[in-house]
Amino acid sequence: MNDLLLREIIDAMHSPLREDVALVERAFAFAKEAHKDQTRLSGEPYLTHVAAVGKKLAKIRMGSTLVAAGILHDTLEDGDVKETAFRKKFGSEITYLVKGLTKLDKYHYHGVRRHAESLRKFLLAVAQDVRVMIIKIVDRLHNMETLDALPKEKQLRIALETLEIYAPLANRLGMSELRGALEDLAFPYVHPKEYAQTKKLLQQKASVTEKYIKKVDRQLQKTLVEKGVKNFETLYRIKNLYSLYKKLPKKNMDVNKIYDIYALRVVVHDVPTCYQVLGIVHGLWKPLPDHIKDYIAVPKPNGYQSLHTSIFTGDGGIVEIQIRTKKMHHEAQYGIAAHFAYKDEGILKSFFLRKKSSTPKKKVSWMKDIIEWQKNVSESGKLLEGLKTDFFKDRVFVFTPNGDVIDLPESSTPIDFAYAIHSDIGNHTYGAHINEKFMGIDTSLQNGDRVEIETRPNSRPSKKWLMHTKTALARRHISNALQKQDADSKK
Ligand code: MN
Repeated sequence: MNDLLLREIIDAMHSPLREDVALVERAFAFAKEAHKDQTRLSGEPYLTHVAAVGKKLAKIRMGSTLVAAGILHDTLEDGDVKETAFRKKFGSEITYLVKGLTKLDKYHYHGVRRHAESLRKFLLAVAQDVRVMIIKIVDRLHNMETLDALPKEKQLRIALETLEIYAPLANRLGMSELRGALEDLAFPYVHPKEYAQTKKLLQQKASVTEKYIKKVDRQLQKTLVEKGVKNFETLYRIKNLYSLYKKLPKKNMDVNKIYDIYALRVVVHDVPTCYQVLGIVHGLWKPLPDHIKDYIAVPKPNGYQSLHTSIFTGDGGIVEIQIRTKKMHHEAQYGIAAHFAYKDEGILKSFFLRKKSSTPKKKVSWMKDIIEWQKNVSESGKLLEGLKTDFFKDRVFVFTPNGDVIDLPESSTPIDFAYAIHSDIGNHTYGAHINEKFMGIDTSLQNGDRVEIETRPNSRPSKKWLMHTKTALARRHISNALQKQDADSKK
């Protein structure tokens, strides 16, 4: 059975060299020995867990270093005397990764309000190296798949942590396939009633939509061939249960207003063909106004790229069509991990570096921002809350007049934008030009907006501003400024 586990990992690897296979074999043998007396709560040998982690990493095309680190992720105890021998055997890189993962396991998460300290440590540890984060997310995925075997109380704790921390992290890394899987696995444990309701709703709606989508698919394929489009592929995906559950309130709980229950995907070989296909689609069916989105020209903040359009099928249906290249398709599923697979150094950098126009030399990644930001949050309850609003909420991308990108939580306002650039700009905001138009500072910013803040030396934050901010960062600066004004007026 053990050899079979190893075989499966190697088979899942993407064109490995002989030394890659050798490394994975050594890691496997080491883990086999280290875990030989351990079993999981399910009764299975512990080795099955680490082998599953290795295989999942191989499947998302991670190289032998990450696959080996995944297999070895539980073999080192913190402060272990065996570390020297381990380092000799596997080198400093794998040792570094495995040590990062070992430390993490000690930070147990205990729900919303308590133990801010362990959450803080967790963030610090994962933010050090994105590879640690990828392995940790894959590790959690396998734990979620086998959560059944755990006692009830533990199930809830782990599922909640998955929803609040791991899935949003996967999302910010653009790993939407893993995010969806994590959410849908955790959903029934955290919200059993809502899970059952949403599942029923999805089943009812899906059977109707499937009819429309099949018809559209057939007609589209035929037309694409007629127009000479080559090397394309169509496929459809059904919406994740948890994302449907989260979207319903935004659509007044009306499932008929959600057009992407099923989405038809057209995968082509290059970008010009994406636009050509969009043209063909709009020639066949009328698009819904305001539902055409060009995430190729303006990618989502997590890197997602595709063209989206929703069309009237002509017989009462509405279908969402997503058009993308093969590479975009892979990236849409695996995000940052895909860039590792393609060794896209340039993209990897842009993924992590957020430009701020006021500090051109100091480029900061959002993970480093997390580290900085959490230092200033003293109240324990505020930590998770702020994390949810400032880092994990759906994001919008907006531009400074120089074309620098600032990413902000959804429905942020020019006030949030101003404080994201610099507290001095925030504190003296007078007004905002959005796409060259003078707009209220309570306007909700949209993806791709160009924002210019007008400051005046005498402008000061007011209490009202607090109602028009989304970020904890802006709120903190405003509160500080208000307190200071208060104190000054009493002098
Ligand atoms: Mn594990």
